[in-house]
Formats: sequence, structure tokens, C-alpha cells
Amino acid sequence: MEEMKPNKKPAIMSLVIMIVIFALLNIFFYNNVVKRQYLEVGYNVFMQMIDEKEIAEANIQSNQIIFSDKNGNLYKTGIVADAELYERLYESGATFGAEIIEQTNPILYYLVTFLIYALFLFIVWKFISKKMLRKMGDSPDTMSFGMGKSNARVYVKSDTGIKFKDVAGEEEAKDLLKEIVEYLHQPEKYTEIGATLPKGALLVGPPGTGKTLLARAVAGEANVPFFSISGSEFVQMFVGMGAAKVRDLFKQAKEKAPCIVFIDEIDAIGKKRDNQLSTNDEREQTLNQLLTEMDGFEGNTGVVILAATNRPESLDPALLRPGRFDRRIPVELPDLQGRIDILKVHAKKVRISDNVDFAAIAKAASGASGAQLANIVNEAALRAVREGRKIVVQSDLMESVEVVIAGYQKKNKILSNKEKLVVAYHEVGHALVAAMQTQSAPVQKITIIPRTSGALGYTMQVEDGEHYLMTKTELENRIATLTGGRAAEELIFNEITTGASNDIEQATKVARAMISRYGMSKEFDMVAMETVNNQYLGGDTSLACSVETQTQIDKMVVAVVTEQHKKAQDILKKNIQKLHEISKKLYEDETITGEEFMSILNSKENTLMPNN
Ligand code: ADP
Ligand code: MG
Ligand code: ZN
Repeated sequence: MEEMKPNKKPAIMSLVIMIVIFALLNIFFYNNVVKRQYLEVGYNVFMQMIDEKEIAEANIQSNQIIFSDKNGNLYKTGIVADAELYERLYESGATFGAEIIEQTNPILYYLVTFLIYALFLFIVWKFISKKMLRKMGDSPDTMSFGMGKSNARVYVKSDTGIKFKDVAGEEEAKDLLKEIVEYLHQPEKYTEIGATLPKGALLVGPPGTGKTLLARAVAGEANVPFFSISGSEFVQMFVGMGAAKVRDLFKQAKEKAPCIVFIDEIDAIGKKRDNQLSTNDEREQTLNQLLTEMDGFEGNTGVVILAATNRPESLDPALLRPGRFDRRIPVELPDLQGRIDILKVHAKKVRISDNVDFAAIAKAASGASGAQLANIVNEAALRAVREGRKIVVQSDLMESVEVVIAGYQKKNKILSNKEKLVVAYHEVGHALVAAMQTQSAPVQKITIIPRTSGALGYTMQVEDGEHYLMTKTELENRIATLTGGRAAEELIFNEITTGASNDIEQATKVARAMISRYGMSKEFDMVAMETVNNQYLGGDTSLACSVETQTQIDKMVVAVVTEQHKKAQDILKKNIQKLHEISKKLYEDETITGEEFMSILNSKENTLMPNN
């Protein structure tokens, strides 16, 4: 992608050239017009002129004599040992001394200097005011130079740009955007049937899923100018300044139409105008201006607005209505195939072994965003270098999945043997409870090597295909699995540790959601007691119920978790032999795979073990 900074460099260059020309002119005038020229003559001429009393003034210096005749002409001659010089000069009636002869013609000097500088200032002033006028555009409320300018970067298509093929997965999003690009290229095809170009498309999704990347791909594919600006750039200190920037952006865009305007992180200016105590005049004005501008052009002017956000629920409804952002393009976390494709796209940038199994890595990285996958590939390449290899292999990628999800392995031994044993039982407790509930391998891998994220052990879950619905039983099993770690500690050591804090947090979240959002309790039936605030950013919720109901919810959450905790304890009690066996192996090896786990689980006594 090639970025055009219109006129910036040429403007500075021409200013420099102008200054140089003026300096040269100045020197020229000074030397040739203002400064009187000397006529170099021989000493004999000087003597002769003295004798003929033609000399008006003389200036005797250590190495030369400068003198003038009565007509004002200047002469210069060398020094000759001449003892009677002063006497003769005196007699000739000339004035002589050190600083008598002025080398310059004062009046002419001041006149020329004045003219040159006046001309110079005039041209510079012209030059600057022209630039400023352009900057301020039609915004008379602009207070200070350049503040109302949009600063949007303009891109033009180039061969090095990002194309749709660089964005893996996200097929639906790509299709919708491709249509817009095609409309810009061949409007006739669409206008024939009476279709108008969508005015705007809003890309929404969690961070790192490729929203900005998609917009850049549109820029790379479309043969039209592409203005890119971040929403935060409209946020200004002075009221009216952001609005002026919006005006300027759209003015530029209309001049360049057909073109695409991309506003990244639009939530910075598009927040709901609610009547909260702290009103924000500046932001509201900016938003109002944006709304007006988006209404301002007719369907087929050819200006398309793309915007991206990960907080769509915070946007003002007026912004989202058809006619402004006609299209809402969800850019979700990639599914398994999407992850494989993204890994492949990024793997092209590194030297990678031919027999890498991308599917296995994509499975291990379940839930990872495109940005994380890109990071995984890069971490793998870094690891390969660290290990002195010239090529990235499977194990590099596998290890970096864990690095990206859980941090680096901690180098020095930080756990005592007792702690290590507790962690081993804890992790196996999770896995065993999970395995006994589903009768399948629950994990890909368990390790008890501490990670820099603070995790003492780490269990890599198996992804059981794509899941769009969760049953109540599945949710309950999940809570049981989460309590399995603590249950194992209780059962074996008769003591509990702080190691379960994260499990507790997650189990509570699931249980609370079951009751307050999914309607999975008898008491509340299908009534929502909570609403989700930030769907794409952590998904925190706020309660929407009376205080009494809150108390009731809390009690029910406790009941659900307690029941599942009890279930986990029962499962582990029944399988305590396996728990010991697998934990011992994990303690010794520090890492076991899902297959190893299952083979111990299914070994001889298995038939004696009651299932669930
Ligand atoms: P956001 O959705 O937060 O704007 P970005 O578009 O900035 O995310 O993505 C960050 C990086 O992640 C990209 O530069 C790219 O390297 C990688 N990435 C994300 N999604 C994809 C994808 N679908 N295909 C390829 N790379 C992706
Ligand atoms: Mg982004
Ligand atoms: Zn745990």
C-alpha cells in the first residue's frame, strides 16, 4: 500500500528553493549594485592622482590602500614603502584615515535590502495563507491552523497492498465487502436493475479477528482512493473541532468520489447520546456532524463508508439505521477451518517444514483469534531460531500455542515437590471428572510446568467439533469438571489450596449465566435477570432485577455449583485408583498426552470401574 501525503514534501521543497533563490539574489545585488566596485590600479597611478590633486579620500590599510576620486569612483592599490605618502596626501588636500571610505552606497543598500525582504515576506505570506485556506476548508469556526483538518491518510491501490486472499476465513464478510468493491468498479451492472450502492458497512467482532485487515484488503482490491482514519482522531479538546474534521473528511471524500472512507474504532465517536450527567458536547457535535454527512450525499455519489468496532452495542442507534450503515458485517472468531486457513496464510511468511500438521495446531489453539494465530506462527519462528534451526517444525508451533495462551515456560524450579504433587492431582482431577462424564478423551495434553502467565499447571482441552448450542447437561458437566481440581485436592490431601481460584471464577460464571440468562432454572422460567454489556470484550453483565431476586439468584448459583462439586467428588472417589495412577505419571513426566491419559484410564481395572 502506498500512502500519499498530498503536497507535503513538494511544499517544503519549494519553500527551501525559494529561500535559496532569495539569498543568491541578495548576494548578487549587494555585490553588483549596492557595493561599489574598486578599480585596481598601480601605485604609480595613485601617485599621479595625488599629484594632480584628484583624490578625495584615502584609506591606508596594512596591506592595501583604498581611495576615491572627486567623482566618487573607488580605487584600490598595493602598499609600497613610501615615507612621504602622508605628507603628499595632506598637501593634495585629500582626507585620509582608517574608516573614511564607505564601501557601500547606504541609500541604495537600504533600498535594495528592503525591497528584497518585502518581496520575500510577501511571497511566503501568500504561500502560507494559501495552504491554510485549504486546511481550514469551509470551516470558519476553526480556531487555529490545521486543527480542523481531517488528517485522513489516503491510500491508492498498489501491487504491494493487502488483498482479500491475505484474509483467511471470514468468507461471509469477504463476500459482502467484495460486492461493494465490485459496485465501485462496475456501477452500471447494479444501477441497471435499480440497486443503489450501500452507503456504509459496519464491521463488528472481537479484537484481533481481522476487521482492520479486511478494510485494508478492500483498499488493496478497490481501484479507488481509500481514506483511513481512526475514530479517536476526531476526539478533540475544543468543541466543534471534531465536527470540523468530519466535515473536512467528507469534503475530501466527495471530491475524490468514487472512494471508500474507513473509520476504525468508530465507538470513540459513535457512542450513544444518553442523558448521563456528564454530557460531552464535543463528542455529540462530532457524532451529529457524522450523521448529517452520512445523510448528505445521494445514493450514487460513490462514497462508501466502512467502519469497525468491537463495541457495537455502545453505538448510537441513529448511526446504525439503514441509510447510514446499511450493512452490519460480523467478523467472528475463526472456526477450526478458519484457524487452519489463517495459520497457512501466516505460515507463508516463514520458512516452514512441509509436513506440519496445521489441523492439529488449529485444534490446540481453539478459541484463538486471527491476531493470536499470527502471533503463534511468529513465536514458532522465533523459537526455531532460538533452537538453532533454519526451519519451523511442528513442535515449535505446538509450543508456541501454549506460549500464546499460557505464557512461556518458567525456567527455574519454582514449585516444591509437595506443591508439584498437589498441582498434578489437581490437573488430573479436572481431566478425570471430564473423562468420566463424556466417556471420551477430554484433554490433548496436561502439563505441570509452570507458565509465566501464573498458571502452575495447564490442561489443553480437546475441541469436540464446532459447538453452537450447549445443553443444560453439558453446562452442568462443565461446572463439575471445573470443580474437579479442587475435589481431587480435598480427596487426596484433605486440604485445599488457592490453586482453584480461576476454576471457581469460571464455574460461578457458568452457573450464574444458566440461571440469570439461559432460563435454566425452574424458579425464574424464561426471564432474563441479567443483560450482557460487552459481547465482544469479555462479556461482562449487569443485573436487571430486584434486590430480593438477586439474593435468590446468589443462593441458586451456590446450589448449582455445590451440586456439581459433590458430583465431581463422587466421580473421583469411585476412580481414586486411576487418579493416583495418572497423577503419579504426570508428576514424574511433567507432561502427558491425551492418549497416554486414556491408555492408563482404560487399562486392566477399567471394567471394574463404574461409569459415572
Ligand atoms: P481487529 O479485528 O482488532 O481490527 P486486525 O485486523 O488488526 O484485528 O488483526 C490483527 C492481525 O491479526 C492482522 O494484522 C493479521 O496479521 C492477523 N489476522 C487477524 N485475522 C486474520 C485473518 N482472518 N486472516 C489472516 N490474518 C488475520
Ligand atoms: Mg482494528
Ligand atoms: Zn484447576
